[in-house]
Amino acid sequence: MDAAKVTGQKVTVLGSQRSAMGAARLLSHFGAQVLVSELNADQFDAEKRQVMADIGAEFEFGYHSPDVLESDFVIVSPGIPENVDIIKKIRDKGIPIYSEIEMTAWFIEAPIIAVTGSNGKTTTVNMIHHLLQTAGYDSYLGGNVGVAASEVLLQSLNESPVKPIFVLEVSSFQLDNIESFQPQVGVILNLTPDHLDRYSSLDAYYESKLGLFKNMEHSGTVVINRDDPELARRDIIAEHKRFFAVDSDRGGDAMLAEGVLGIMKKSGWCPILPAKVLPIPGKHNLSNALAAIAAVMDFIEQPELLAQGLMTFEAVPHRIEYVGKINDIRCYNDSKATNIASTEVAIQSFSQPMWLILGGKDKGGDFTALLPQLETQVREVLLVGDAAEIIDVQIGRALVTRRLETIENAIEHCFQHGAAGDVLLLSPACASFDQFDNFEARGDHFRQLIQAREGWSL
Ligand code: ADP
Repeated sequence: MDAAKVTGQKVTVLGSQRSAMGAARLLSHFGAQVLVSELNADQFDAEKRQVMADIGAEFEFGYHSPDVLESDFVIVSPGIPENVDIIKKIRDKGIPIYSEIEMTAWFIEAPIIAVTGSNGKTTTVNMIHHLLQTAGYDSYLGGNVGVAASEVLLQSLNESPVKPIFVLEVSSFQLDNIESFQPQVGVILNLTPDHLDRYSSLDAYYESKLGLFKNMEHSGTVVINRDDPELARRDIIAEHKRFFAVDSDRGGDAMLAEGVLGIMKKSGWCPILPAKVLPIPGKHNLSNALAAIAAVMDFIEQPELLAQGLMTFEAVPHRIEYVGKINDIRCYNDSKATNIASTEVAIQSFSQPMWLILGGKDKGGDFTALLPQLETQVREVLLVGDAAEIIDVQIGRALVTRRLETIENAIEHCFQHGAAGDVLLLSPACASFDQFDNFEARGDHFRQLIQAREGWSL
């Protein structure tokens, strides 16, 4: 507990989204003088004003005042890019900038399991959280998963957990501004292209993810996906490494062997669960399950408890979520697939003929990477949103594509032309911000449209 770092300090929180508001509350809890400074006036609402009044924070919306540059340190929201004017000015003045995760961790005394990677983070942290809860831990889940890390810490301070442990999903933007963040267990799931609109190069993005291990050279356990080619090419320096693998010939500490998920212990092979019993589909989820097992191995030793936790795990909404069928066409909401690699694994999770809804706000990826998958499995690609044209130019010559603008039109087209036994998959490989507030709103819209149709059943 490092309250001295903040008590009486002048701290600016830049931005006012979820993690920023959590940071403001936590800082004020530990006695900082907080200023919330938000450039976008539209972000202002009565709820935020109430929070700030309750905690005694100052706030400004629509501009950054000179007071920002009088701060002892600044907490930056993950949504604010490094190259904006205010960040440059703060750096020029030598004022330290931290992410909300960094600051929150100053006050966490319990073990932290932190997970990063390009895809699978939310599924994996939820699985870790569920495994720990099943085994009797007071697990707190936070980070990029709906509740900010600072908020779950505040919640834990109000409770009296007996066996507390924090499971945090950490994005690359949060890792860009860490200094002393040092989880007990740091997990990296994979490195695939994403956020090319925010980073100067792919390597810069990958290095940012590997920043999770910055302070783990001499402590903690680093958990690495042995199947991932990008990770295999990098030399991760850590005191204690643990590997998980679905495919690798070299196996791993947690691995798939002859259809069974298990742990390779010093004493020998310890089976946990037949892969086909795992309640969520796709090979990528076997990988996520093995990552989760590897992450909790030091905390849960009994294989039966691990098996029980895995068997009772329920899919997280918007991740290949089954939403029902119409005329025997099964419909899946994978709105969280906001990059190309995640759409690729979603397609691979099915063997049926497919109608795929792609598009949204483009993030600069290469859609031709999907062609081998699409050519063998997809009847038609239904293009929606701003990215429709870019995608069509890249893949339209090799496949049947249709520019349909909206998800409504795409659903309509599929039901008019699809056949019993087909699958309709919304796995857009793009961000949602062109037509929706976020990926949840996009997925909810899809689910509602399907479930409102005549003939819908589960
Ligand atoms: P994240 O939090 O990293 O965005 P999620 O667990 O929310 O990851 O999953 C988002 C999408 O990524 C899923 O809908 C699925 O299509 C894909 N996905 C999940 N796990 C993996 C994985 N291990 N490798 C590649 N893609 C994955």
